[in-house]
Amino acid sequence: MKKPFVAGNWKMNTNGHTSMDLADRLASAFTELAGRNVTVAVFPPFVYLQAVGKALNGSGIALGAQDVYFEPDGAFTGEISISMLRDIGCNYCLCGHSERRHVIGETDGLIRKKVSAAISGGLLPILCVGELLEERKASRTNEVVTRQIKEGLSGLSAEKLAAVIIAYEPVWAIGTGLTATPQQAQEVHDFIRKLLSQMYNQRSAEDIRILYGGSVKPDNAAELMGQKDVDGVLVGGASLKANDFLVIIRAVMRFKMPV
Ligand code: PEP
Repeated sequence: MKKPFVAGNWKMNTNGHTSMDLADRLASAFTELAGRNVTVAVFPPFVYLQAVGKALNGSGIALGAQDVYFEPDGAFTGEISISMLRDIGCNYCLCGHSERRHVIGETDGLIRKKVSAAISGGLLPILCVGELLEERKASRTNEVVTRQIKEGLSGLSAEKLAAVIIAYEPVWAIGTGLTATPQQAQEVHDFIRKLLSQMYNQRSAEDIRILYGGSVKPDNAAELMGQKDVDGVLVGGASLKANDFLVIIRAVMRFKMPV
């Protein structure tokens, strides 16, 4: 059964007070949402994960981390391990978010280690891929996404692939207010599914969830979700406003029924 997925990436936003307020609002609204044909997870900053997790407890909203380190423990100052995240109730982690690739400088090789270690350690990774504006203009979108997926999943068995979620996030659409058109999103999602079918098999490619991310808002979520290969959304800015995020969740629930 492929449930649609809505992820809320809070990035380096909120403080102790506003993170709790947001979590409380989401928890009480989500508890009342009938049906719940959707998986929802939020990705707060590390320092608020535990408190947000407590506030969400019993609501049905899952907890995720914005990043993770691949080593189990040791002299890695500033890093957070998979078992630490599991310890405080995290089930998901983002791997290779565009801001980590392009601002912090993470490589495909490092991201591959994170994806692989996350699965082995019991965290479900969301592998983020997407092209820069100049790469799209040069018609290199498919080439870039192919490299990121092939390298990010390198060595991963079909069995382990079942734990992975892919997020297609064109870098030019993240935090810019520019959204890929539903057709542009569908084209790349379809391309990714075909690529996975070649790398693995058709069944694995059909089962995997491919999210779209990049300026998803209450007024464009439904149209994006109406696309055949869009299985959910990764939301940044709009996930910081409880009402906006809830409108997006409802749009996803309406458009995608589990198969
Ligand atoms: C993101 O954080 O992955 C994202 C897509 O951000 P925004 O929705 O603000 O573009």
